[in-house]
Amino acid sequence: MSHIDAGWSGRHDHQSCVADAMETAETVCRSRGTRLTPLRRKVLELIWSSHRPIGAYAVLGQLRDERETAAPPTVYRALDFLMEEGLVHRIQSLNAFIGCSEPDHAHSGMFLICGTCGDALEIEDERLDDSIRNAAQAHGFVLQRRVVEATGLCPGCAESQPA
Ligand SMILES: [Zn+2]
Ligand SMILES: [Zn+2]
Ligand SMILES: [Zn+2]
Repeated sequence: MSHIDAGWSGRHDHQSCVADAMETAETVCRSRGTRLTPLRRKVLELIWSSHRPIGAYAVLGQLRDERETAAPPTVYRALDFLMEEGLVHRIQSLNAFIGCSEPDHAHSGMFLICGTCGDALEIEDERLDDSIRNAAQAHGFVLQRRVVEATGLCPGCAESQPA
C-alpha cells in the first residue's frame, strides 16, 4: 500500500506504512548500489515517525537520544543523501522534511499540508505536472525543480472545526 493510496495519517495503519517505507528504501538503495547506512536509516525512520514534516534540528534532537555525539553536519549529510535518493522531500515553506513512499520513480512532489495538526499528504497529479511544464516552456523558462505546497485543513481537523 502506498502512502498516496493510504491517505491521511489518522485514517491508515501507520505502523505498516513505516514498515513499507523502510523496506522500499532498502530495495531502492540496493538496486541503485547506494548505501542506506545505519545512520541514514535511523534518520529516515525518525522522519517517518509521522506524516508531519520535521525540521533538521528536531531530527538531530531525537537522534541525540540515541547517539549523544551526533552533530549537525552528520544529520545534514544524511538528509542530503535521502533527498538525492528521493526517499524524503523537503517542504520549503516549513523548512522541514517528509518521507516519500514512492522513491522508485522520479517525481517532484505535491503536498496538501494541514495548518492545524501539521500533517502533510503527498499527492500525484500528472495534469498539474503537465500544466506547469507547459507554462514554463511557453515562457522559455528552464524548469529545474518544483514542489507544490498547498495549505489548509485535513479531513480530521475540518470535522472538528466549529461550523
Ligand atoms: Zn502513515
Ligand atoms: Zn514523493
Ligand atoms: Zn489536520
